[in-house]
Amino acid sequence: MSEELLVSGRYLVPMDGTVREDAAVVVRDGVIAAVGDRTELEAAYPGARRLHTPEGIVLPGLVNVHTHAAMSCFRGLADDLELMEWLERHIFPAEAELTPEIVYQASLLSFCEMIRSGTTSCCDMYLFSREVARAAEEVGIRAWIGEVLYDFPSPCYGPLAKGYDYVRDLAVSYQGHPRITVTVDPHAVYTCSPELLRRAHELACDLDAIYVIHLAETEGETAACRERYGATPVRHLERLGVLDQRLLAGHCVVLDDDEIALLAGRGGAVAHCLESNMKLGSGLAPVPELLEAGVAVGLGTDGPASNNDQDLFGEMGNVARVHKGFRRDPTVLPAARVLQLATDGGAACLRMTGRLGRLAVGAAADIVVVDADAPHLTPLYDRVSHLVYCATGPDVRHTVVDGRVVMEDRRITTVDERAAVSRMRELAGRLRPLMGGAPSRGTGEHG
Ligand SMILES: [Zn+2]
Repeated sequence: MSEELLVSGRYLVPMDGTVREDAAVVVRDGVIAAVGDRTELEAAYPGARRLHTPEGIVLPGLVNVHTHAAMSCFRGLADDLELMEWLERHIFPAEAELTPEIVYQASLLSFCEMIRSGTTSCCDMYLFSREVARAAEEVGIRAWIGEVLYDFPSPCYGPLAKGYDYVRDLAVSYQGHPRITVTVDPHAVYTCSPELLRRAHELACDLDAIYVIHLAETEGETAACRERYGATPVRHLERLGVLDQRLLAGHCVVLDDDEIALLAGRGGAVAHCLESNMKLGSGLAPVPELLEAGVAVGLGTDGPASNNDQDLFGEMGNVARVHKGFRRDPTVLPAARVLQLATDGGAACLRMTGRLGRLAVGAAADIVVVDADAPHLTPLYDRVSHLVYCATGPDVRHTVVDGRVVMEDRRITTVDERAAVSRMRELAGRLRPLMGGAPSRGTGEHG
């Protein structure tokens, strides 16, 4: 039997609608074994290792349902551009030069950033995803990982035909892994042919995997899809027979009422990437309507080149504020609802309802402790309000994933974070010349 761990603070937010005072969580074998009164649990588990934060708020680890961790190597380059110009003139050409080592190191940095800001699970779509998985394993984060599939050659696997094999091999490697799950990731309707979208869906069914895609991100995407295929992106997927409960669609900014009903009816899930959509000027996803229709919605940071950080606390604060501002309605998406999106909602997107995003007996022991002993978190009348409107990533004191303390007192315990930062600085020298004003591949190749 593994060591027992008892995590406690002043408050516990288990995501069951309550806030408990002087409560604790007991962890054993990677799952939550008990939730209850701190004094009672300390007596019942005298041998448990204790991790107590006197002014701490203990909550489930946050779930980031859409990111590209390795894009930390492009952070701050090519900002303030329209999506297609950003992708085609800057990101795609630079990505063509990526190496496995850069992807590994950049992923390592992002996973450290996530652990530092209270994210314990993420859904990552990128290139060289075997390297992403290796970094996730080392840092100790829980991750859903997929290799981008698109019509043009990949710097990772070469021609598309080999992409399917790459995904299948990766799935075999991680079958039964306690923290890594492989997904099938066609990039978007504008970079993937109908045949690719169908074949990727067959593969997802075969592997019983989540089907991750960027969908209905901009008005431009919708107009181009309509012109090319005679249907909006969501209806295009429906016509192809790939819109079902496997779908985890990033963005979904441009949706009409019928498409929202269609997503709800088919059981598709949506990754809401507010900061990325704001930064790229894409617009605001109809999240209240999606929730009203019963669609599972989680929060995603998107990649560090379009956000530009991986801090879900910041994301929550912006989600709670921006929807209110746009609608001129302060009752839209209250704090508790937003915290639910970042925990339980994310779990639903990853088909993990009840097993992730809650502090409950039998759920995964993914736990974070926010230390409220700080000026901006004092006084503490409403714990949930502070978590959404005041707390930021650096307020996280301890992070536990799968029962393992991966950050203790702000120190990452699993990898040499300083070495990772230094190595990325060296590698950045190689990437710098590739960014900015790189020649376009032209829309003909993948538009
Ligand atoms: Zn994305």
